[in-house]
Amino acid sequence: MTLDALLKEGESRLREAGVPDAALDARYLLMEVWEMSLAELLARRQRPLGVPKEAEGREPDGENGEKVRRYRELIGLRARRIPLQQILGVQEFMGLPFRVNEHVLIPRQDTEALVELVLKEQKGRRASLLDMCTGSGCIAISLMRLGDFCSAAAADVSRQALETAAENARLLLKGERMVRFVESDMLEAFGPEERFDVIVSNPPYIPTGVIEGLEPEVRDHEPRLALDGAEDGLKFYRILAEKGREHLAAGGYIYMEIGWDQAEPVTELFGEAGYRDVTVTRDMAGLNRVVRAVWPGKGEEEDHV
Ligand code: GLN
Repeated sequence: MTLDALLKEGESRLREAGVPDAALDARYLLMEVWEMSLAELLARRQRPLGVPKEAEGREPDGENGEKVRRYRELIGLRARRIPLQQILGVQEFMGLPFRVNEHVLIPRQDTEALVELVLKEQKGRRASLLDMCTGSGCIAISLMRLGDFCSAAAADVSRQALETAAENARLLLKGERMVRFVESDMLEAFGPEERFDVIVSNPPYIPTGVIEGLEPEVRDHEPRLALDGAEDGLKFYRILAEKGREHLAAGGYIYMEIGWDQAEPVTELFGEAGYRDVTVTRDMAGLNRVVRAVWPGKGEEEDHV
């Protein structure tokens, strides 16, 4: 038996289960179990592992036998369409390794468009930050690592998500760069006097009826709570538009991730709620992905009504 043979075996099992990137995922799982880099795998994949063939009627034994069993176990999990990142326990975002599990949305590359826009526009401002619906904490933590915010709060309705986010903050932030984690259903736990210079959010935005048609990894294994934006997908933008006015400083910015087809209704919502300078930014795939709006402050809003 060789690593190559195990890769082929894993790949065909994943392919049968309908896993889209069967060969790649088998390779990641094998590298995880053997704690190997890609270079090591490529160098060693043809060498005999010294594990007896099962055809000879023996279970694999020794250290490699243990690893073969573990690898097949992980392939089995992936064949059940458990996301690769949940099996490995990690997803990279903005170049940082975030711990993930079934309680948090797996950070998406799309969301880096939001973080990059915030970094570009808020550079040098020493702003106070609130991340609403923080999940794994990937937005708040990468902004604290890469930006120059003076303080950050991160809120989520899920206590288990907050525990995961706090763990990520412990692992990825050092010293002074702390994030305050708050259990809150949207902005409910924040007092009337609590205002921020910048609010960021990747809220749940998938229309309920669309969720059933998603890939099983997302539909069955990522938290519904992090995906479901109610019937039209816009529920949480309505709350952000309304409550953001009570928790943004005058001249404060709100940045939100949106679904590719939500730019129009979301910009409209924020325009109607009295925000200014509403812009839409695309992601790397060229899809509308971020809406940004500026809250002018109450006085100014009333001047213009
Ligand atoms: N972008 C995610 C997806 O398409 C959804 C994230 C969200 O609802 N905030 O699966």
